Amino acid sequence: MCVSNADVSMNAYAPDGADGSADVSPTSRALLLLGRGSDPGSERGVDCPGELPAASDETLVDRARAAKAALGDRVFILGHHYQRDEVIQFADVTGDSFKLARDAAGRPEADYIVFCGVHFMAESADILTLPRQQVILPDLAAGCSMADMARDTQVYDAWDVLSEAGIADVTVPVTYMNSSAAIKGFTGEHGGTVCTSSNAERALRWAFEQGEKVLFLPDQHLGRNTAVLQLGLELEDCVVYNPLKPNGGLTREELRAAKMILWRGHCSVHGRFTAAQVEAVRARVPGVQVLVHPECTHEVVGQADLVGSTEYIIRTIEAAPAGSSWAIGTELNLVRRLAEAHPDKLITFLESTVCYCATMNRIDLPHLVQTLESLVRGEVVNQITVEPTVAAHARTALDRMLALPELVPAVAP
Ligand code: SF4
Repeated sequence: MCVSNADVSMNAYAPDGADGSADVSPTSRALLLLGRGSDPGSERGVDCPGELPAASDETLVDRARAAKAALGDRVFILGHHYQRDEVIQFADVTGDSFKLARDAAGRPEADYIVFCGVHFMAESADILTLPRQQVILPDLAAGCSMADMARDTQVYDAWDVLSEAGIADVTVPVTYMNSSAAIKGFTGEHGGTVCTSSNAERALRWAFEQGEKVLFLPDQHLGRNTAVLQLGLELEDCVVYNPLKPNGGLTREELRAAKMILWRGHCSVHGRFTAAQVEAVRARVPGVQVLVHPECTHEVVGQADLVGSTEYIIRTIEAAPAGSSWAIGTELNLVRRLAEAHPDKLITFLESTVCYCATMNRIDLPHLVQTLESLVRGEVVNQITVEPTVAAHARTALDRMLALPELVPAVAP
């Protein structure tokens, strides 16, 4: 397994994924080792109570099957596309974060929603489901390093900086789905919307109808790629707000001149892809088409043939003609499954080394079995609940997103 997320868990802040440099103290907000200690106010690793079955237990698949059958319609298992094979086989539905949250909301008869994904996804499911439904994350250490790069106190401080620069009134916050409930709550409270990688263009167009500037959280790359490639803004219209520097590292003049204020966050997995890898695969595989996720850097997206969300990547490969060649820049579990499902097409991983999302991979068969067997006994473990006030504001931001009209999901480089 690639150590990119584990690296983040040990460092103060993983910068932008492009240069790998950290310009702040590694102790100021060092993350906990995954699965150890407790910091429930963030996406950081936390202990899970109870005994885990051994990973070597050969009866795990049968145990998971039996527990799921015993629970019947009372349990609904959601599996994100980046989950392991051993887990995804038990999912009732698979999808990206937004689709799964909607799927969860569409199952009001289920008592338990078991979310095989990461923490912010389970939070969104809790916000969108009925109060009596219980949402469970099989391993509480399955956070998201990107979501953890924007904490609510930092964002409130940033809003103060914008207020002092005299631009808060004309700035609309837009947060990526990959953010904590607290950040979605901030966004809803301040007139903004949530977006996904599928509808970021529409969300930004809506936001620019409401105000003159956008504060985009927490993924600078999705914000920049969408603003420049889809809205036609210039790179110079974008500034990067570094929450670890006084005033975000920006002058008032820079803030006033900017149209897009990008939070300095990134995905540790997609940030690993480089333009050199695109060049190398083109030299290695004649006629290859490069298909990447918009969480990749602007340089990589600019070199790619096609860019789009996880669901878009899946649809593109499904529709591709037999014999076509693809290099895909997204999480490896998904790329590997696409290659297995389409043996008539040449599908390669854009990275030269193996790289999974470390926190997505925290959810394994032992955690799933422990979760399901606990539910059979009537014990709810690892429940995710969002504080009601935060949930109400976050729901406002999610509802604004749901009201956005559908868009073509691809980004043309
Ligand atoms: S792939 Fe990136 S954005 Fe998705 S959960 Fe992992 S670290 Fe977070």
